Amino acid sequence: MKTDVIQVFRKGFGNCVELLFPRRCAFCDRPVKLPGILFCPDCEKALPKIRGARCEKCGRPLFGKEETRCPDCRRLPHLFSRGSAPFVYRDMQMPIYRFKYGGRAEYAEAFASVMEEELRRTFLPGETDLIVPVPLHERRLQSRGYNQAALLAIELGKRCHIPVETDLLIRKKDTAPLKDQTPAERRKNLSDAFCINRLSHKNKVQFKNILLVDDIFTTGATIDACAAPLLFAGASKVCFLSLSVSTEDEEKR
Ligand SMILES: [Zn+2]
Ligand SMILES: [Zn+2]
Repeated sequence: MKTDVIQVFRKGFGNCVELLFPRRCAFCDRPVKLPGILFCPDCEKALPKIRGARCEKCGRPLFGKEETRCPDCRRLPHLFSRGSAPFVYRDMQMPIYRFKYGGRAEYAEAFASVMEEELRRTFLPGETDLIVPVPLHERRLQSRGYNQAALLAIELGKRCHIPVETDLLIRKKDTAPLKDQTPAERRKNLSDAFCINRLSHKNKVQFKNILLVDDIFTTGATIDACAAPLLFAGASKVCFLSLSVSTEDEEKR
């Protein structure tokens, strides 16, 4: 609750509030000393961004020398066209945990600043017409208080001047935590999990290049399940940008 109040005041009174309630670094969670700073200088320099070769489809780091796709994308066709993420999940586990469950909604601005770089690196200027966050089920949204993917999408849209629709997709099924399921179980569970909000105008989707935004990309089952109704409604293509991607070894655990 206290965090929410600070967030509201921060929006209203900007830098004055930052002096009273210093913003915390989105990586190490220590208070940052200067207003307007999103990561402390030491963390900013050492952010564990993905470098080197990546899967051309999902952006995961590649380890095999002459491959262009990760084992997962070689095995499975995806409905999304391509996507990327600035971090590997393992390196961001604690910051993402605090962001989702520790009331640190304020991290969205910092994370979106890194996602903006990633968007500019991955997609052409003007390639994205619309940003859509992966929705939470209503019940989960009530208990958490906010959808972390929507916060990232809103901040990213502001930075890149791309429209954002947070209510366009609806999560119909409250699926069990996906991390304990095999990839096949995930796909089965997620089929028909999402639909387009009937109140949304069809033209919002038709012939549009849509960018789905989420915090963690694991097998791509969630992104594919979100892409299905969008493509069915006439979207030209669906890509994704996630804050982090998990690697094969993380999925096996
Ligand atoms: Zn820091
Ligand atoms: Zn891949």
